[in-house]
Amino acid sequence: MKCSYCGKDISDDSEFCGYCGKKIKNIKKSKRIRTTISVIALIINICILIAVLINMNDIKYMLLYNKYEDDYELGLDYCENYERFIEVIDTIEKSGIRVFVMNEATDKEIAKFGEELKQIKGVRSVKFVSKEEAYNQMKKGLGEREGVMEGLDSSIFPASYMVELTNISKFDDVEKEIKKLDNFKKITSNYEWLEIGMEAKNTTEFCYAIIVTLICIFIVSDIVAIILINKEKEKVKW
Ligand SMILES: [Zn+2]
Repeated sequence: MKCSYCGKDISDDSEFCGYCGKKIKNIKKSKRIRTTISVIALIINICILIAVLINMNDIKYMLLYNKYEDDYELGLDYCENYERFIEVIDTIEKSGIRVFVMNEATDKEIAKFGEELKQIKGVRSVKFVSKEEAYNQMKKGLGEREGVMEGLDSSIFPASYMVELTNISKFDDVEKEIKKLDNFKKITSNYEWLEIGMEAKNTTEFCYAIIVTLICIFIVSDIVAIILINKEKEKVKW
């Protein structure tokens, strides 16, 4: 290598220049140290990422818990039921809510009910579930115990509609409109907590996504640093 002070050729491992006597900064050695530090940082960051991915649910609980730290009871309630309410929200998002029609409604009235459901603002699609389908679903749900259904007529099962919403947070508005319809019987469950639950779910997932993104940025910058350090030419200062 060349001495960075006087430019004369000196051996790679010398600590002092034999010509000008100045202390030599060992570029190769410092490169090696910086590479090692970056590699260690990279490994640590990858480990953190893996830990964050493995403990995804716990981290989400924690974020949710923090969100409700002012309302301890509510926070606890959400954390304990987190999985269940996420499941309910996912089901509603995928297949919609189930709206039952009065048993005594005629076929014509049932069809009209379906048409009216479609007209409601916030309803994306409507799928009819007949009495027979309800009967078969029940039978399938019972599995081996389907014997208990023997002698039951499918006509006692209520017809219903699976109603898909454009935006699940608009549930309250849609529910109000559905309840106004003739022949409305009931909606599967009461989703009073749905709006606040959706908000909790979105905030939690958003915060989690930010954490994962930040770790990924660190990982990429570690890799870039390693590449740059090793591409760096041995600069010679004259
Ligand atoms: Zn020198």
